[in-house]
Amino acid sequence: MSILDKCYNFTDARKAMATGYYPYFRVISSEQDTEVICDGKKMLMMGSNSYLGLTTHPRVKEASIKATEKYGSGCAGSRFLNGTLDIHIELESELAKLVGKEAALAYPTGYQANVGCISAMVNKNEYIVTDKYDHASIIDGCLLSEGTMLRYNHNDMKSLEQVLQKIHGKKSLIVVDGVFSMEGDIAKLPEIVLLAKKYDAGLMVDEAHSLGVLGATGAGAVEHFGLNAETDLIMGTFSKSLASVGGFIAANETLIHYLKHKSRALIFSASLPPASTASVLEALKIMKEEPERMEKLWDNTHYMLSEFKAMGYNTGDSCTPVIPLHVGQMMTAFQMWKRLDEEGVFINPVVPPAVPPNSCLIRCSFMATHTRAQLDMALDKFRIIGKELHII
Ligand code: PMP
Repeated sequence: MSILDKCYNFTDARKAMATGYYPYFRVISSEQDTEVICDGKKMLMMGSNSYLGLTTHPRVKEASIKATEKYGSGCAGSRFLNGTLDIHIELESELAKLVGKEAALAYPTGYQANVGCISAMVNKNEYIVTDKYDHASIIDGCLLSEGTMLRYNHNDMKSLEQVLQKIHGKKSLIVVDGVFSMEGDIAKLPEIVLLAKKYDAGLMVDEAHSLGVLGATGAGAVEHFGLNAETDLIMGTFSKSLASVGGFIAANETLIHYLKHKSRALIFSASLPPASTASVLEALKIMKEEPERMEKLWDNTHYMLSEFKAMGYNTGDSCTPVIPLHVGQMMTAFQMWKRLDEEGVFINPVVPPAVPPNSCLIRCSFMATHTRAQLDMALDKFRIIGKELHII
């Protein structure tokens, strides 16, 4: 008997590989664009989070190259010690401005931003209140904190109030995705803010899928609802609209000062590399200079939502560029993925434990740079395959 036995006995993924229904770790040998070369084959990319299509922008690439030339390939240390660059400070100032907060703090990944912030913010005998569909990094932040996590039913305000009533008088932080990463629906922030006020809870919003997507300037769901003053902490990532990797927390100066000295995921991990830092700075500039990108993203989103619905697909409550097709059984999701793959369309199947059994999704996500011809080509395939599998 060895601790390693569970690894040797783990056969689920190998069985899936043997049957040809294994949609993970696919190898891309091109840029992350509307078309990619995947396992040697040209495919339409409809599963990328590069919402504004900036990962291939010449200015973003140039900024990354120039930063590498000036600062080298890495910082070889944490922000706390030898790893703070002048461009980190510049980036944090721009992010704070974007989301309308006094200060911001950049982390090496969005995952670390959530884990590092939540675990530092919530102590013993304190509570974290989360939506059941919140991202894994929020859950992991709760697990790493000394506090207690309580979950409410997805976007269900009655359920949220019941949870808050249970812990009335105790210290609590509500943490919620602005746009839910699999469902593509928007958190009911106006109602959440009212409940947070009523029960004296703090509020943190994860803008991973809403930055560059929602709000007049692309600042996210909080800007979309005009609830900046009512939101204590805003989290964002650089790995989606902002075309790189990394994440951040924005808040008032006191909260950021606290995180700088208490957030272990920041202090004990190397800082964001120069190339990523400079890429995000340039992506932010382009986002500001070219608001037509967000307009195009929404044109594409509205078009795909209405076409999918007209075909008879169930897109749930999605109203953003994240559009899931609810296909039910796991085998149907895998069959649909396989057929779309054969037809050259890259999407992501979502199966348990990410969703409840028999609530499987084909998660599509759209970009500002998808052309109408690309969308139409994909729609033809979705129509044919949906009928073939009796989904529509
Ligand atoms: N929050 C949400 C809602 C996400 O979807 C993700 C990534 N999928 C993260 C946080 C983590 O971000 P990153 O990929 O930058 O680590």
